[in-house]
Amino acid sequence: MTTAPWATRRTFAIISHPDAGKTTLTEKLLLQGGAIHLAGEVKARGAARRARSDWMKIEQQRGISVTSSVMTFEKDGIVFNLLDTPGHEDFSEDTYRTLTAVDSAIMVIDAAKGIEPQTLKLFEVCRLRSVPIITFVNKVDREGRPCFEILDEVADKLALDVCPMSWPVGMGGTFEGILDFATGGVSRPEGDSREFLGTIDANPTLPAEVAEEVELAQAGYPEFDLEAYRHGDLTPVYFGSALKNFGVSELIDAIAKFAPPPRPQPSEAGEISPDNGEVTGFIFKVQANMDPQHRDRIAFMRLCSGTFKRGMKLTPSGLGKPVAIHSPILFFAQDREIADTAEPGDIIGIPNHGTLRVGDTLSEKNGVRFTGLPNFAPEILRRVVLRDPTKTKQLRKALDDLSEEGVIQVFYPEIGSNWVVGVVGQLQLDVLISRLEAEYKVDAFLEPAPYDTARWLIGSDTALKAFAQFNGGNMAKDRDRNPVFMARSSWDVGYQQEKNPDLTFSATKER
Ligand code: GDP
Repeated sequence: MTTAPWATRRTFAIISHPDAGKTTLTEKLLLQGGAIHLAGEVKARGAARRARSDWMKIEQQRGISVTSSVMTFEKDGIVFNLLDTPGHEDFSEDTYRTLTAVDSAIMVIDAAKGIEPQTLKLFEVCRLRSVPIITFVNKVDREGRPCFEILDEVADKLALDVCPMSWPVGMGGTFEGILDFATGGVSRPEGDSREFLGTIDANPTLPAEVAEEVELAQAGYPEFDLEAYRHGDLTPVYFGSALKNFGVSELIDAIAKFAPPPRPQPSEAGEISPDNGEVTGFIFKVQANMDPQHRDRIAFMRLCSGTFKRGMKLTPSGLGKPVAIHSPILFFAQDREIADTAEPGDIIGIPNHGTLRVGDTLSEKNGVRFTGLPNFAPEILRRVVLRDPTKTKQLRKALDDLSEEGVIQVFYPEIGSNWVVGVVGQLQLDVLISRLEAEYKVDAFLEPAPYDTARWLIGSDTALKAFAQFNGGNMAKDRDRNPVFMARSSWDVGYQQEKNPDLTFSATKER
């Protein structure tokens, strides 16, 4: 039996709270996958690398940093596409949207801290689409919380079944390696650095208290169940230390073995299987040029079906005119040279001048439109105030553009003249103001809006009209003219939902 090329793809992201060890783990995954040769290269941008591919040239000429947006490596016939979820210090919709382009995720938890706020937020986005999660409890080379406590916290806070797949032999000062439940072997620390260098003790003698824990752990949690994992109901949990290289190869193996290959994608005309011969994909991220003199952008497309070939003509939904894609960036193992083909699950970077928008579907025949690339309820809302009132038209254009690019969301209140922008992270506001100035020559500032959050309203015309009659001051339209309720607080949302059971107050809007 031959395997379709797409079936070898594993497209995934790492979700974590800052400092849990995402960067360190990324480096180690790439090292083991042979994609980089020295740890530390993930953070060393540009200068440290030689410009030998077209991809690098694009990066240099246009000042677009695509470095580490997509990291591809190959091991034992499996192609791993690791998508970076940006927004370390801050949160942006980019981060959320990247998660719509993956088939699974690794959740990294600091063994001393457990589930932290950003881990939880990102997890919730994964849950929206039932993205299966493999958990990595990191930093067990240091003193951490008891393993049972961490496992129970994951189970309770995320409402997931947990299934430990390995167990640390001690932590911190007593750390003596990781027991792999599947093989019964213990990977041992070595040398002054106490790293894992490949030595596995096949017949380990475990300290009595560890042996007892292991027995309890194996009896006390559900067995690994592939179906439950793939439905997003169960998470296998690996313990390890990214810094000292423990648990990393087990993670790679787990992704290869358990993580799903490209899944069928929901579209308006039903699910599109990766087996479907027609080339289809959707844009989940647009990266603008950092040099304001250029309008070039890179649109990141996740391929959903068909085999993409360089030079192919694809039609973006909504535009109607086919675009020939002559210089796609394909992110391939080692050098990430421009390659000639890509398979479902792969990511293609498409240079363009703003024609491609986040959420667009591209297809050969223009019959397909993917759904499920959501907007998320903004957590920070601000009024945009113009310093020069003659620039209203430019501002409207800028806000429409930037919201289509996914930098911000924009809301046009039914009453009053100040437009409101919404974001999920402060960083997006900084980007907004600097781009308004640099690219649109619009001098504006932001002031607090009297709202705390927004909800998309779904219901019959009659129900919407009745609601708007009493809540006109809180009604707005988004850029697609969908009705939005601007709420003073989340309590307000709950209150209105209770009073208006025939309306849905949605925190996400599927495009
Ligand atoms: P990120 O913010 O999630 O990308 O986290 P980093 O990978 O930058 O790691 C944050 C800090 O934790 C750095 O100082 C790392 O060296 C350290 N770190 C990461 N993994 C481990 C680990 O397994 N053990 C220990 N002791 N430190 C770690």
